[in-house]
Amino acid sequence: MRAIFLDRDGVINENRADYVTSWKEFRLLQGSLEALALLTRCGYRIFIVTNQACINRGLVERTTVDAIHLRLAQIALNHGARISDVRLCPHRPDENCRCRKPQPGMLLDLAHQYDIDLDHATFIGDTLSDVAAGRAVGCQTVLVRSGRGAEQCRMLTDDTPQPDYIAADLLTASRWLCGRRETVLTPC
Ligand SMILES: [Mg+2]
Ligand SMILES: [Zn+2]
Repeated sequence: MRAIFLDRDGVINENRADYVTSWKEFRLLQGSLEALALLTRCGYRIFIVTNQACINRGLVERTTVDAIHLRLAQIALNHGARISDVRLCPHRPDENCRCRKPQPGMLLDLAHQYDIDLDHATFIGDTLSDVAAGRAVGCQTVLVRSGRGAEQCRMLTDDTPQPDYIAADLLTASRWLCGRRETVLTPC
């Protein structure tokens, strides 16, 4: 089983300056449903891994966030895409939990539950925290330029975690992962 971990905000849906606290604020990025369907068709199991400190900051109920994810999974299914599971970290940074990215807790939990071979898994995210979490468990990492990605790309130095590849967006990364040879990812 090939597993793919996806960050949510800035990868699947638009990143907001504050937080997504309702379905109304959850805006899918162009091409992301197509990407999820492509990954599903070419045999990847899809896991979403997202930091949602807005929950413990008291800005949104956990049940509301779960409902957003249920709705996303349903829409994805209608487009031929299967999301196997969604993991979220509800903690604020000051809580120093083991799951808030760049910590790899959510990836480790998923790997344990679904028997995922992390050496052959890929993490796609739009921030260096995503890259760090993926690298911490030995995943291949792809930084997308959507969401905060373009800004994060400019912050890359020898001291920051290095993604294995940089892609324009989730659809480009997915085409490449699914072997579309006309798609080229930039090595760092
Ligand atoms: Mg993000
Ligand atoms: Zn956490």
